[in-house]
Amino acid sequence: MSRYWSDIVHRLTPYVPGEQPALAHPVKLNTNENPYPPSPRVLAAIREELGPAGESLRRYPDPTAQKLRETVAAYHAIRADQVFAGNGSDEVLALTFQALLKHDKPLLFPDITYSFYPTYARLFDVEYQTIPLDDAFAINVDDYAVANSGILFPNPNAPTGRPLPLADIERLLQKNPDSAVVIDEAYVDFGAQSAVTLIDRYPNLLVVQTVSKSRSLAGMRVGFAFGNVELIDALNRVKDSFNSYPLDRLAQVAACAAYEDDEWFRDTCAKVIASRERLAAGLTELGFDVVPSAANLLFARHNGHDAATLLSRLREREIIVRHFNAPRIDQHLRISVGTDAECDVLLDALRAILNA
Ligand code: PMP
Repeated sequence: MSRYWSDIVHRLTPYVPGEQPALAHPVKLNTNENPYPPSPRVLAAIREELGPAGESLRRYPDPTAQKLRETVAAYHAIRADQVFAGNGSDEVLALTFQALLKHDKPLLFPDITYSFYPTYARLFDVEYQTIPLDDAFAINVDDYAVANSGILFPNPNAPTGRPLPLADIERLLQKNPDSAVVIDEAYVDFGAQSAVTLIDRYPNLLVVQTVSKSRSLAGMRVGFAFGNVELIDALNRVKDSFNSYPLDRLAQVAACAAYEDDEWFRDTCAKVIASRERLAAGLTELGFDVVPSAANLLFARHNGHDAATLLSRLREREIIVRHFNAPRIDQHLRISVGTDAECDVLLDALRAILNA
């Protein structure tokens, strides 16, 4: 606390990202990173962009990330003017709060969801109302029949991994033509249906995606929004009032190269999905209840063992998973899907802890 702080700083509740532990060889299953490296083409593109002497770094990057937006637009069979690119989908979401979600009625999002949403709402002074997930942690779109100026949730949801069928999202869009509906698809490539295919039909739909998970580029900070040109224009107006160059040169070429190697992307996603199913079976065998997941994470609880205790027992073995000390989910662990070898280390450790 300091008398130099702006008033708003006193009122913030900053988001706490998963730990990046300073351990030599942690089994790191706490931030939903991809256990596999990005396509080799990403590395080649970064080297080429740098050149032998890093000459290109003298110059500012393209403020609109035109080539990247064209590449991603072609990938989704949409137009580049329906694509916004930002510094990770967190930044895209932050700009969305300012550009589209602040009106006279509350923004709606689930009670159990990505914990950055309430943080942004407080930072940008956006009124919000949470809508409870059902007891199986499913989103029921009929529960969103509440006066609102915007609706936001991830599909699959976080931290549960539970997907929502596209037909439900379409029903929500039809019932809320006067609100922006924002679907955060950070994990969509691991098994849910993308709503990108709906943007031409619903001018109120904004779909947010990232290269952090399915394209193994969390360290590059690249995210997108897809939607009607008017929504994209709103994001550009806020972006150009805040930071003209959110994506550096290396991030732009790296993300482009990742989209150009579809085979690598598909192989990587298939491996993660197979490991997820294997891990889910292993956890179930150990007595965990596992929420059905279409993401690269599992949300699980053990009825006989306290989650926070399991978390610290695992940490002693340098296995890092995530726990949220929040209502309804404080007995769950969120486990990122690693390689099969990493998942085996986790399962062996849990077996030993549960039997101790
Ligand atoms: N949305 C959800 C639901 C997430 O879990 C995350 C990752 N923490 C993000 C958005 C942000 O991802 P990034 O900024 O790396 O694109």
